[in-house]
Amino acid sequence: DPRLKAISEAIRVVPHFPKPGIMFQDITTLLLDHKAFKDTVDIFVDRYRDMGISVVAGVEARGFMFGPSIALAIGAKFVPLRKPKKLPGEVISEAYVLEYGTDCLEMHVGAVQRGERALVIDDLIATGGTLCAAIKLLERVGAEVVECACVIGLPEAKGQCRLNGKPLYILVEPR
Ligand code: IMP
Repeated sequence: DPRLKAISEAIRVVPHFPKPGIMFQDITTLLLDHKAFKDTVDIFVDRYRDMGISVVAGVEARGFMFGPSIALAIGAKFVPLRKPKKLPGEVISEAYVLEYGTDCLEMHVGAVQRGERALVIDDLIATGGTLCAAIKLLERVGAEVVECACVIGLPEAKGQCRLNGKPLYILVEPR
């Protein structure tokens, strides 16, 4: 797809953020580039519009920057998967392991019904731990996760080892 080169080039790489040694992939510069931003959303919309998806679940915080546009365009609802203690209603929680320590994602009870077909979206996959927690939340309420989608996939994501066999769709690798 000829659009992918410009999408990749619109993502800024910030060395040593948030700590020494990390090459941070910054999608805020992609959001500043109207054509690259629109192409990103359009590629996802073209892929998912006829897959019978009723819910797009976005991972805090950068999944919120792509998910709602995709959901509106494919006729699905948007459900935020949030960090702990942000959602005001009754929630279910799923903890996951990070390089140092653990984190947790939460989803409102009642947001997704049994049997719904879900797409999970985030900006970037590294180990897959975050997306795996998202998949578990949706499966716990009886939804079917059709696919996980990210703008950027780090090379280590290739094995999809932690996605429990769910398909993964990524647009670009880091430059
Ligand atoms: P994983 O759980 O190891 O796959 O890490 C993915 C999560 O870390 C996602 O929610 C990303 O937003 C975040 N993340 C890790 N590295 C980066 C980066 O370089 N840029 C933006 N987000 C990152």
